[in-house]
Amino acid sequence: MIKILVTNDDGIDSVGIHALADAMRKIGDVFVIAPAEEMSAISHALTLNAPLSYKKMDDRQYKIFGTPSDCVYLGIVNIMKDRPDLVVSGINSGCNMADDITYSGTVAAAIEGTILGVPSISFSLFGNPPTHFNEAAPWCGTIAASVLENKLPRPTLLNVNLPDGDIKGYRMTRLGVRRYSQNVDEIRDPRGKSYYWIGGERAEWDHIEGSDYSAVKEGYVSITPLHLDLTDYKFLKEIEKWNFKNPTA
Ligand code: MN
Repeated sequence: MIKILVTNDDGIDSVGIHALADAMRKIGDVFVIAPAEEMSAISHALTLNAPLSYKKMDDRQYKIFGTPSDCVYLGIVNIMKDRPDLVVSGINSGCNMADDITYSGTVAAAIEGTILGVPSISFSLFGNPPTHFNEAAPWCGTIAASVLENKLPRPTLLNVNLPDGDIKGYRMTRLGVRRYSQNVDEIRDPRGKSYYWIGGERAEWDHIEGSDYSAVKEGYVSITPLHLDLTDYKFLKEIEKWNFKNPTA
């Protein structure tokens, strides 16, 4: 029996994770192991300086008082008796495209699964906020089944973004480029002290052919293979020519 670990960064009570879990139950035995609270933009954080605990809701549902990466780590190493065949994360409320993947807790959960040697996929739904989770879920199921059938090379994961509503098909894509608004809203509290909200403005992306953004914008499911080796091999050749001086010489 195929075992699937389902997690997310929006929290165990979010709509998206239950749509995803339902789709995965058509493929295998599903363990929902997800954060108790919303953990969006927590990236790949692991809880190392505080005790980690969880609440077992039933044999197949665990509420973790921690991050998405904690969920995957704890799930694989402690909760699930056998290693899962697949880790899926999402369906996130909002897309995780382009540079966003570096902040995303949704993607980080799939990165953690990959590091632990389990094929992993992150799923995110475009929209602000999106609503068509149940329409997106069967597409996630098909992609998961394909990963189980075709296998992923290591250390590669799939980052999937879906349009919110009518879906025309699939496109294999590269990461796009996001234009950050770089704004900070300064607000005064009742005592006159300032506090701040960063990045409050709506996100925009460049239209780049073959990118995740362009695919989703045109109504297609974007599938981007991500590789965990972030080394810039082209620049490595260049930086080898730099003349770094020995400061102790
Ligand atoms: Mn999220």
